[in-house]
Amino acid sequence: MIKDNLVKVQARINSVNHTQSVTLIAVSKTRSTDELQQAIDAGQQHCAENYLQEALIKINHLKGQNLIWHFIGPIQSNKTLKIAQNFDWVHSIERFKIAQRLNDQRPKNLPKLKVLLQINIDNEPSKSGVLVEGINELMTHFESLKNLTLRGFMCIPNPSNSTQSFVRMANVIKQHPNLDVLSMGMSHDLELAIASGATFVRIGTDIFGKRI
Ligand SMILES: *Cc1c(COP(=O)(O)O)cnc(C)c1O
Repeated sequence: MIKDNLVKVQARINSVNHTQSVTLIAVSKTRSTDELQQAIDAGQQHCAENYLQEALIKINHLKGQNLIWHFIGPIQSNKTLKIAQNFDWVHSIERFKIAQRLNDQRPKNLPKLKVLLQINIDNEPSKSGVLVEGINELMTHFESLKNLTLRGFMCIPNPSNSTQSFVRMANVIKQHPNLDVLSMGMSHDLELAIASGATFVRIGTDIFGKRI
């Protein structure tokens, strides 16, 4: 049951010693609108999707329920308009050009789009994200983007050494006292992430079951 799973995940979050506030984000990629509705009925408000077309269907069906939508997948230029129009948060910014398009396309009647930079914390050539060395340079450009608010960082560490990677992320964000969001921790490692300072955890499998 999705409702029981949510209770269990929340209990795992509470079991970790932490002083920061931690927001549970339900990652509903590949799951049906009905399954997501079950989570919402159990009180879940923050929802995340990786694929735009799939997300738009759910966002449309679930309108009017006061949800907060997070985009966490890779972003091509031709997707920025719909993302700017339909989401509250974007976790997966790795290029200035994408940030600039989201800024220019954010509808004027909506609040600023809250964004995170995705960090390639383990320097993995095959992975998305900004290298730690590139963060400061990329950040200097954000001041000109008046329709975005840069709030922090997201990472998907290599599972073989996630503890060290979480600690490294925590040290990186400490150098930016104006940033307050660390999006890290998934089903298998949420406790480690929270112990290192995660403020958003992104949970799919342990809420909705194994993806097929
Ligand atoms: C799928 C996904 C998650 C959720 O992962 P689980 O292991 O199913 O909890 C979190 N973050 C991102 C970026 C994802 O793509």
